[in-house]
Amino acid sequence: MNLEYLPRKIRDNLIPAPAGNMCYYCLECGQRFDIHRLLYTCPDCGQVLMLEDTDFQRLKNIDGKTWREIFDARQMLKLPALRGIYRFHEFIGPIIPLEAVVYLGEGHTPVIEASSQLQAMAGCRLFYKNDGQNPSASFKDRGMASALSYINYLLRQGKMENVLAVCASTGDTSAAAALYSAYLQPAVRTAVLLPEGKVTSQQLAQPLGSGAKVFEIPGVFDDCMKIVEVLSERYNVALLNSKNAWRILGQESYSYEIAQAFDYRTADLAVVVPVGNAGNITAVMNGFLKFLETGIIDALPKIIGVQSMHADPVVRYYNTPAGKRKFKPVTVKPSVAQAAMIGNPVSMPRVIRLVDKYNDMAGRQRVFFVEVTEQKIMDWQLTANRHGHIACTHGGECLAGLQEALARAMVTEDDTAVLDSTAHALKFVGFQDMYFQGQLQRSFNVVSKPELINLPVKIRPGGLKLPQPGEPLTGRDLERFVQASAETVALQLNLKKG
Ligand SMILES: *Cc1c(COP(=O)(O)O)cnc(C)c1O
Ligand SMILES: [Zn+2]
Repeated sequence: MNLEYLPRKIRDNLIPAPAGNMCYYCLECGQRFDIHRLLYTCPDCGQVLMLEDTDFQRLKNIDGKTWREIFDARQMLKLPALRGIYRFHEFIGPIIPLEAVVYLGEGHTPVIEASSQLQAMAGCRLFYKNDGQNPSASFKDRGMASALSYINYLLRQGKMENVLAVCASTGDTSAAAALYSAYLQPAVRTAVLLPEGKVTSQQLAQPLGSGAKVFEIPGVFDDCMKIVEVLSERYNVALLNSKNAWRILGQESYSYEIAQAFDYRTADLAVVVPVGNAGNITAVMNGFLKFLETGIIDALPKIIGVQSMHADPVVRYYNTPAGKRKFKPVTVKPSVAQAAMIGNPVSMPRVIRLVDKYNDMAGRQRVFFVEVTEQKIMDWQLTANRHGHIACTHGGECLAGLQEALARAMVTEDDTAVLDSTAHALKFVGFQDMYFQGQLQRSFNVVSKPELINLPVKIRPGGLKLPQPGEPLTGRDLERFVQASAETVALQLNLKKG
């Protein structure tokens, strides 16, 4: 829509100019650091950092209602830089000029209400937010758009050149990193480290296709992460893991979009997310907190973090009574929610602080953690998709987690659940194949339920000539083959002659 059609009152605020004063902020020692260099941990105490706008108060000069009007009006503009996560520019990267924004179609993923059948089975009102409909088919594109827009900003200022971006990944981070870096060729190249045999073939194909240098490392994600940390400490590389606080900022867009999708009425929402390295849940909490502080929403939604019993360090931490908590990494077992198969989440210190802040601001407990079995993850994923969704295994994990949260009265039937399908079903389709073929029994402890198995039926009419590659049938042969095949299909489907 043309800018002139929009109300004069908000017109001046629709196209944001660089503003604010951003810095890295250490959660442990409270020190702040200049953002014009790449920094991942506090130079003084080694803790992970967050990004902060020390001028954040200025955003309160605009009231909540006006902000809502601004975001809703921006939805109608055709400016590429404002079509993705930077629609919330002032809350994500206020110092980044729109010219430096890298937009590849990320964000504003559909929020789909579940069918009445699925809602009845689930036990409350239920929506999926399909983050698998991002360009690299997972939510990681949100944080990557933010991180690469920042790198692009430094490149344009001449503060950086010839960037080598590196990351360790359970699959989706590397796909997103490789895609966004490829867009900034030749100034940015990428190298990704993957745990050998622990990513799906689709996830391996993605960074290869984007031209990244791909290294397969023996071990699990936690091992790859250690190697990448050494690389980022000793060499001049840009780290693209969620240790990089710019990734968290971009991911906050997930909360802003949920607020917008529900017309900023968030009081009765229960936002359910899978937890792996815990960057996502960190961002989701921080995002809602920022919107609350500026009056854009007036209540914090519930947040339910879900983990598999095969990778549950965060749940174990919160299952310990408050005074006695001490974080202990766990050794992970194979999980179908493979992108969350992490025993030592990098963002744990962020989570610990933000959960307390979130509950304090709400005046009651609003963040909950539950764990689920591998069996329930698979069964609920397949069930969701049989009702018209495109949930990945982590989306199944969210639905399984919702069941657990309902059973424990963390969520009630008056709540509206928003489940995060963090990736597209097709990225993790290998687990569906294994389930259908009964091959998940051993390492994953999943028994395939006959009613959920679906396998193709081969049609081979006997005693007839069949079409062969390069030798199509003709005449009588073709007619006989078509007739016999139609009869067999009709028999299989129990069709009655009409
Ligand atoms: C990365 C990822 C997760 C886990 O998110 P964290 O931020 O690491 O907690 C879950 N699902 C998918 C599909 C992912 O790619
Ligand atoms: Zn510090």
